[in-house]
Amino acid sequence: MLPFMAHGHLIPFLALARQIHQTTNFTITIAATPINTAYLRSAVAADPVHSHRLRLASLPFNSSDHHLPPNTESTEAVPLSQIISLFHASAALEAPARHLAASISAAEGRPPICIISDVFHGWATRVADSIGTVNVSFTTCGGYGTAAYISVWQNLPHRKAESDEFSVPGFPNGCKFHSSQLHPFIRAADGKDPWSRFFQPQISLSLGSFGWLCNTAEEIEPLGLQILRKYIQIPVWTIGPLLPKAMLFGSKSSDSNLLGGHNGRQSGISPQKCLDWLNSKPNNSVVYISFGSQNTIGATQMMELAKGLEQSRKPFIWVIRPPIGFDPKDEFRSEWLPEGFEERKQGLLVRGWAPQVAILGHKSTGGFLSHCGWNSAMEGLSQGVAVIGWPLAAEQAYNSKLMMEEMGVCVEVARGVQSEVTAEEVKRVVELVMDESGKGGEMRRKAGEIGELIRAAMQEEEEEGKGSSLRAMDDFVSAILSAAQPPQ
Ligand code: UDP
Repeated sequence: MLPFMAHGHLIPFLALARQIHQTTNFTITIAATPINTAYLRSAVAADPVHSHRLRLASLPFNSSDHHLPPNTESTEAVPLSQIISLFHASAALEAPARHLAASISAAEGRPPICIISDVFHGWATRVADSIGTVNVSFTTCGGYGTAAYISVWQNLPHRKAESDEFSVPGFPNGCKFHSSQLHPFIRAADGKDPWSRFFQPQISLSLGSFGWLCNTAEEIEPLGLQILRKYIQIPVWTIGPLLPKAMLFGSKSSDSNLLGGHNGRQSGISPQKCLDWLNSKPNNSVVYISFGSQNTIGATQMMELAKGLEQSRKPFIWVIRPPIGFDPKDEFRSEWLPEGFEERKQGLLVRGWAPQVAILGHKSTGGFLSHCGWNSAMEGLSQGVAVIGWPLAAEQAYNSKLMMEEMGVCVEVARGVQSEVTAEEVKRVVELVMDESGKGGEMRRKAGEIGELIRAAMQEEEEEGKGSSLRAMDDFVSAILSAAQPPQ
């Protein structure tokens, strides 16, 4: 496996490896740069299931060779202005990956059955060719988001549009996208800029893969998957969403069976304190606010969000980080919030990292103000939590669009780090989504239905019928085994 250099990619690859181990006796090697390998090692140590069949291989990489600060090996470690250099630097992993693949082939007397690579590592198709095996791409997000992301990068449809609204090739004509749903990098892209020069060739190479694994379930986004299959024209196996088992099959309760799964990160609050606090609140009354593992918002936006929350009077748990322009590792300063905000104790502020799975799995949590990262979206919906969307980067705006238009479980409050956010709008949307008798209750009901579909798709018990995502995994395994070279 060749995951991209971001924690949000490494962890789903690890989850995929674990899922493959549930039904096969394959030995899986995950290859990443030295610091990312150490990160994976700590995540495996925290949850060592099947670790004897999991190998971690370190690919030599020196960030200083690529005009990056020393020891920069993931998107989390690099300032926004330098992320593009990290993307371009990631292509330098091709040579060591080729070397590793050749040495595994030599040691085993046959090539690996398959190389599963990140969509951003399109060069992996060449590595697979070089050792005579197949390559399968894995997108850590859903079908709708993958289709939109690929098509927008390949076609840059907004460049040809006469207004802010545009159609995306592959999507139905009536399904309009808006330029505010594009990250500023894509909005400005013209095919010749550094972003296009990275994404366009890597995505095109990935489209030459033998097939595609998608971290989603067939039933939760039929339209997105139909669009994706028609657009990419190679087999798509929907093997997810890969969520912690306790989250899917434990009860939505106040207990502490969901306290694990921190992915090796230090929580900014004692998880038990979080649960005790949640236990003191009524069902579906709490708004959980998080912008994922690496994003944050602007300083003015942060202030308005805080004021809007106060005006709504709803209890909340907010994972806070310094606003844009400050070092994410800086101490959080109270001046970034209204005076006395924390002391008024309307909600809990969690610095840096929260036990998200446990919070979303608690019966008191009813709304999730989220950046709409795919893992967060799936975690929230699996627990029947309604979403207040604030997409920031990557394919998040497409996930938000899917949740608003196809699933009916999301209302957006803002987009991006530049949009104007007012306390009044925050208050309005929070009240709307938390109102059990109106739209909010309906959104939670629909989210609960999606949660049931997710559980059914991931169902393992044979007597109740294997879920569609487990059947897709079987199909994937059969397909790569039939394509595999016999041993020499
Ligand atoms: N997460 C967490 N605590 C936090 C922030 C994030 O446990 O304070 C986890 C969250 O549960 C999810 C992942 O980090 O599994 C974030 O992934 P997502 O795809 O939502 O967003 P990304 O971080 O890749 O933007």
